[in-house]
Amino acid sequence: MAQFAVIGLGSFGATVATELVGLKHDVIGIDSNKKFVESISDQLTHAVIADATDEHVLSELNIQKCEAVVVAIGEDIEASILCVLHLKNLGIDKIWVKAKSKAHHMILTHLGVNKIIHPEEDMGVRIAQSLSYPMVSRYMALDDNHFIVKVELKEAQQGLRFNQLMEHAPEVKTLMHKRGKEVVFSIDPNMILQKGDILVIEGLLEPLRRLSKHFKTV
Ligand code: ATP
Repeated sequence: MAQFAVIGLGSFGATVATELVGLKHDVIGIDSNKKFVESISDQLTHAVIADATDEHVLSELNIQKCEAVVVAIGEDIEASILCVLHLKNLGIDKIWVKAKSKAHHMILTHLGVNKIIHPEEDMGVRIAQSLSYPMVSRYMALDDNHFIVKVELKEAQQGLRFNQLMEHAPEVKTLMHKRGKEVVFSIDPNMILQKGDILVIEGLLEPLRRLSKHFKTV
């Protein structure tokens, strides 16, 4: 169990904070708005009404003991930057910050922030991807060109042999097949696919795109 702090308890910050609690971590939530703090106080380890642009306040809250701090102050870029400067002064290494604009992002980069988050953009990309590839239920980008993708098979793939589907992109590696509760890592090439089967595949964008056409139309 680790200790984290989340500064700014708007919808993004509150979600991060409650998820961390769900993962059994200690979470201190800080917001200058009493209403936000009160609405979440019973779900967090500590919830504090405080101005995070005040270094003294941050130090009194013992925030330096936290493993990582998430700064989720959105609109007030000045407050976000000041808060990051104080956290740096207090010696906190791991700082994740929600950025609102390109300028905000650039300043945070110069301040040496470990992780800069753009939730709206990230969500937009994910939604566009799921509209474009509806069979992709989840994916993880290893870099710009390399992905691990979870695909759920539809009616169109029912009855196909596994290698009949995958031969369209032999470069793509299948990491796992799941049917109901049964998980197989070493897949029989002649296995007959069924609707609802899950495949977890890994590969570069081009062969994955090529393969995706067959997930739609085969
Ligand atoms: P979200 O989309 O996550 O709801 P947002 O990006 O619109 O939020 P804001 O609502 O501007 O961002 O800020 C998030 C939270 O940060 C708010 O609850 C706000 O009260 C809090 N906040 C703003 N300034 C400070 C500050 N100086 N100290 C502590 N909390 C602050």
